[in-house]
This record gives sequence, structure tokens and C-alpha cells, in this order.
Amino acid sequence: MDTAHCIFCRLSADPNFKTLFRDEDVVAFADLNPQAPVHFLVVPRRHVETIAELGDDHLLGLIFATAHSVAREQGIAESGYRLVFNQGSNGGQTVYHVHLHVLGGRQMTWPPG
Ligand code: AMP
Ligand code: ZN
Repeated sequence: MDTAHCIFCRLSADPNFKTLFRDEDVVAFADLNPQAPVHFLVVPRRHVETIAELGDDHLLGLIFATAHSVAREQGIAESGYRLVFNQGSNGGQTVYHVHLHVLGGRQMTWPPG
């Protein structure tokens, strides 16, 4: 998948796309198909297909820090939330541009589906 055909590359480059947070490295935006009262994604602007490929890149820390600060803004910091990276096919990954799911606003269950 090249960046021109990647949905998250296109969204993160679009200045009119409604985001919860954006800077030069990452964007956060509401998931199109929310699985919880609060469900947003944190996405690096650089096209990297999987979390495995990202390795120990500094973007990882920025992704987590953004997740926590947007969670605070969304009012779920106190009640708690779940952070999910789906890796590859069995992991349930459908969009091959790294994204961290942040889900909250309800009690999460375990095991996940
Ligand atoms: P995953 O299955 O982990 O790859 O997650 C991909 C996520 O991207 C799903 O939760 C989708 O609902 C979400 N998604 C796909 N397209 C869009 C979009 N245009 N805007 C917001 N979220 C999207
Ligand atoms: Zn991309």
C-alpha cells in the first residue's frame, strides 16, 4: 500500500479533516465505527504499516502521550480506558497504517472478542 492510497495518510494530511488533536507527528480522531461511548484513534502522520515495523521508534512514545492527553480531554482519564494495537490478520488489523485505539466510557470486558 502506497501512501497515496492509504486512508489514514489521506485523512491526516487533509487540513479540513476534523481531528481531536494534531501536530507535526501524530493526529487523533474519532473512530468511524465506535465500539465504545468514547473511541478514537491515534495515528502517526508517517506511513508505517504495522506496530511491529515501528519497533522502538520515538513515535511510539508520542502516540501514547497523545492517547493519554486526548483521553483526559474526552473525560475518560479518571474512569479508565483501553489501549489497543491490532497487529496483522489474526490481530484484527484492517487498516495497514499504524493506529492506537483508545476506548472508554464503559466497562471493558476480558477476554476481548
Ligand atoms: P483495525 O481493525 O485495528 O485496523 O482498525 C481500523 C479502524 O479504523 C476501525 O475501527 C475503523 O472503524 C476505523 N476507520 C476506518 N476508516 C476510518 C475513517 N475514515 N475515519 C475514522 N475511522 C476509520
Ligand atoms: Zn498511511
